[in-house]
Amino acid sequence: MEEGADLSLRLRAQAIEVVRDHLCRTYPEEGCGVLIGTESDGVRVVERAEPVANADSDSRQRRYRIAPEQLLEVERGARARDWDVLGFFHSHPDHPAVPSSSDLESAWPYYSYLIVSVVDGSAVESRAWRLGSARAAFEPEALELLPEAGAP
Ligand SMILES: [Zn+2]
Repeated sequence: MEEGADLSLRLRAQAIEVVRDHLCRTYPEEGCGVLIGTESDGVRVVERAEPVANADSDSRQRRYRIAPEQLLEVERGARARDWDVLGFFHSHPDHPAVPSSSDLESAWPYYSYLIVSVVDGSAVESRAWRLGSARAAFEPEALELLPEAGAP
């Protein structure tokens, strides 16, 4: 990804469906998971979303944590298909789809962060973010939905 280029994240329709479904079921706690797929010429295509348990021990309504061993497992599965971990998704129960200060503190460079606002148990807004080069703030990524991939 070149500096200053427009960031965009494309998701297969089925992947966003899995994301919304998982995050509605974990409401009113934050739900989370991993986005896997391909990146070429700066274009990220999320082929699949893998929900994982929120491993935060004391405040799952406001925070999420993905256990390293869970991430490793998803990463192995992705590699087996020639896919990579592109980012993560999580919900903001009854809050906007805007990164919180703890999201900023725990964010890693490179990855896309998809945040879904879930209000009264329904997914109302999805936005994607990526850490800026100075790592001091998130920059928005354009979110684009793709039709299903053709049969292999
Ligand atoms: Zn958050």
